[in-house]
Amino acid sequence: MGLSALKREEYVAFLKNHTFDVLVIGGGITGAGIALDGASRGLKVALIEKADFAFGTSSRSTKLIHGGLRYLKQLEFGIVRETGRERAILHNNAPHIVYPERMLLPIIEGGSLGKYSTSLGLYVYDLLAGVKRKERRFMLDKSKTLKAEPLLREDILKGGGMYIEYRSDDARLVIEVLKTAHDFGATALNYCKAEDLIYNEKGIVSGAIVSDIRTGETFNVRAKKVINAAGPWVDELRKTDKSLKGKRLHLTKGVHIVVPKERLPIQQAVYFDVPADGRMVFAIPRDKIVYIGTTDTNYSDSNDQCFANAADVAYILKAANDIFPSVGLKTEDVISTWAGLRPLIHEDGKAPSDLSRKDEIFVSASGLISMAGGKLTGFRKMAERAIDVALKQLEKEEKYTHVPCRTDELVLSGGAIGTLKIAEFEESLVKDYPQFPKDEVMSLARKYGSDAKVILDNALQSKEDNALLLAEAAYSIEKEMCFNVADFIVRRTGRLYFDRPLLSAITPILHAFYKDKLSISDTLSDADMKAYLLEYEGVMKGVNA
Ligand code: FAD
Repeated sequence: MGLSALKREEYVAFLKNHTFDVLVIGGGITGAGIALDGASRGLKVALIEKADFAFGTSSRSTKLIHGGLRYLKQLEFGIVRETGRERAILHNNAPHIVYPERMLLPIIEGGSLGKYSTSLGLYVYDLLAGVKRKERRFMLDKSKTLKAEPLLREDILKGGGMYIEYRSDDARLVIEVLKTAHDFGATALNYCKAEDLIYNEKGIVSGAIVSDIRTGETFNVRAKKVINAAGPWVDELRKTDKSLKGKRLHLTKGVHIVVPKERLPIQQAVYFDVPADGRMVFAIPRDKIVYIGTTDTNYSDSNDQCFANAADVAYILKAANDIFPSVGLKTEDVISTWAGLRPLIHEDGKAPSDLSRKDEIFVSASGLISMAGGKLTGFRKMAERAIDVALKQLEKEEKYTHVPCRTDELVLSGGAIGTLKIAEFEESLVKDYPQFPKDEVMSLARKYGSDAKVILDNALQSKEDNALLLAEAAYSIEKEMCFNVADFIVRRTGRLYFDRPLLSAITPILHAFYKDKLSISDTLSDADMKAYLLEYEGVMKGVNA
């Protein structure tokens, strides 16, 4: 059994009855990466997440594994180099969820980059990131740019640069990392909140008081080292630790909107200027939709309920209509949105977009290790750094048998697709499973990689209506610790954002399925539905305002 929701009681008992080398608080990409790094180096690791895995920022990003051209503009060469190299490693280790995608950067009058600076910028970007020769950028004149993207605004267009970024699925990346960490012996549990920290007689942090959100039970988890990977909530735990001094988080909100592909039928992803404020925005096609974003504004409301508002939606629509004037996108075209919080580190006097995305580690007097800042893309190296700090502290007390970081060569769960490119793998699955609709098989290939076969084989054995959907839901329970319809629709499959028209038909079926398979009480099942509706209605807040 993998990361199974059916084994929750067993996992809780394990958490209660053992002392771990490392307790990680937070089940976003930072925490998941740390759990994998620690477990694969031989440490006994526990991870707790107060909501669902990837509930926070790690399901609400632009979903790119990128070296970040914007960082080049800010002269942050170190970030460009490290994250650029990480793209190649992650593509190797998880080819089903990290793969190359062509991106067009139009050069416009009044834009932040000119023809020569774009050419040079993209060249340096390729160089710093160690991009393979065949993937390097090429420049286009005005007519070729328009041929590549006929919807672009012609009067201000000067040319374009075509380069490669890597596309991903943030929440699925988190779950694949956690599944791999579980295979290395880590104990990871969602719906478990660190309410308080435990200290030993010397005042050293030695665990957490945890509440099980699904049962209401409270218990202690003991650990020699505690790592705070709570993303936008990092400072809450530092406050609990009475160590919130000096550097603090600066949260900024980033919003994306989703429109049907037929309303913005672009040929490839486009990364374009917003001349009004000097920012840049992505428009990224994905199956039947295109998503556009992001914004970058200071945020001080609730971290737990962060949604797009009308101003966010209007900003993105205007930016898109300015560069693609013939499409005339309207609020009514928006079929979904998402909003995430960047857990950045405050720098006096800096505007949101100018704050560094660099990660930092704070170690408090009690020994609490907090990791803040950073990117989805850099999670593997961030994890290595966090575990290095933990090991250094652990080794002051006793000798540890562990191996050096080796996540650069660990194939992540689902990544065993051999030498096939993702498109070839999709084709092979479509050929092997002609009984199912082609687009559904392809979608499973991109979500679960080599594990898609388990779902498809189980669906073949089933005589039920909705066999494929229910086989996917069963897999989510047995292998991905999925407890309810929100976990499945929002974070395991992204259907809330990318397949919204389908939701009214499948939600009741799935809700009944989880209740039955996990023997969920009426009260808890009602609470699950309420939580789902909050997310379902929340994404349309900025549209229906
Ligand atoms: P989170 O994902 O927020 O995880 C923290 C977790 O801790 C949460 O799930 C929370 O529920 C949990 N938690 C909090 N308190 C407790 C507690 N007391 N007990 C237990 N659990 C707790 N990066 C890229 O590389 N590429 C991109 O394309 C990209 N785009 C972005 C676009 C936007 C709009 C934003 C906002 C960010 C983007 N980023 C991108 C950055 C990236 O998404 C974040 O750096 C990353 O997801 C942060 O992950 P995290 O694990 O640190 O935080």
